[in-house]
Amino acid sequence: MFELKFYVAAISCIAVLATTPAFAADRDATTRLIGDGVYSFTAGAGNYSMFVVGEKRVAVFEPFDSGHARKLLEAVQSVTDKPITFAFISHNHWDHASGGKVLSDAGAQTVMHKRAAEWLAANPGRDTSPPDVTWSGARRDFDLGDFAVQMHYLGMNHGMGMTVFLIPERHAAYIADLVTPNRVMFAVVPDFNIGEWERSLGEVLKMDFEIAVCSHNELPHAKAMNGCTRAHAKEERQYIRDLRNAVRAEFQKGTVFMDVPKAVRLPQYSHWVGYEEWLEMNTLRMMADLEMGPFPWAPDTQPPTKPFGL
Ligand SMILES: [Zn+2]
Repeated sequence: MFELKFYVAAISCIAVLATTPAFAADRDATTRLIGDGVYSFTAGAGNYSMFVVGEKRVAVFEPFDSGHARKLLEAVQSVTDKPITFAFISHNHWDHASGGKVLSDAGAQTVMHKRAAEWLAANPGRDTSPPDVTWSGARRDFDLGDFAVQMHYLGMNHGMGMTVFLIPERHAAYIADLVTPNRVMFAVVPDFNIGEWERSLGEVLKMDFEIAVCSHNELPHAKAMNGCTRAHAKEERQYIRDLRNAVRAEFQKGTVFMDVPKAVRLPQYSHWVGYEEWLEMNTLRMMADLEMGPFPWAPDTQPPTKPFGL
């Protein structure tokens, strides 16, 4: 997702903000230990990385961009002198997959799914670089000695090659874009296959983890630094279902198509960030999905093999 900055230009806007949940503002870089050698990190702009410190090696998750990656590197070096062996990248989007070279130059191998690498090769961003390691299929595990990183490709839910990372020994996960606590869907929900997203959240909920870092988190900063949990994945899935049901209800009532975005209200989510600004956009996207069918889509939208029970 894009870095969100909220500029307050007039006193009248402050009055609006007093009653509307605000988007994450810029803050100082922060690192927090949230599990057994598991750290949450933000450079301050609403993007959250994770790193895991093992007996001999460190794994980092999500560089975002060069500026973020440099601060992430400093954060790792402030808690350990062990080397970063792998830098895992979740998916193809430039706002997540940039800055990998900073970590490569520091000795890490950058890792992403082949589909993300192929997309980036065809559509390089200003700050992207080819990964050092790619993998394909639905599941791959990397052994880092006293912990393993399981990589799960759950299908074409968002972007290309979207990977959910699970670290069973530490009961931890890293989840990019598929779960954003305390926020409605991102604007017009770009590059999400909503049905696949919902199905993938069901797969995430089967995974064994107690704590996760979600790439974006709109809980208050102090809470967001603690990461996200299965409960947030469940809430995300419920929001998808509630929005779909609300749109269907308007269709069934015969509400004029162009009036549906204003008619759909989900007051149970009114405390979520983006509710006033984005609910209509979320609704329009859901209407498009229900009218046109799911997109994006490819013949192998779902993973080629079941990621579980291997
Ligand atoms: Zn994305």
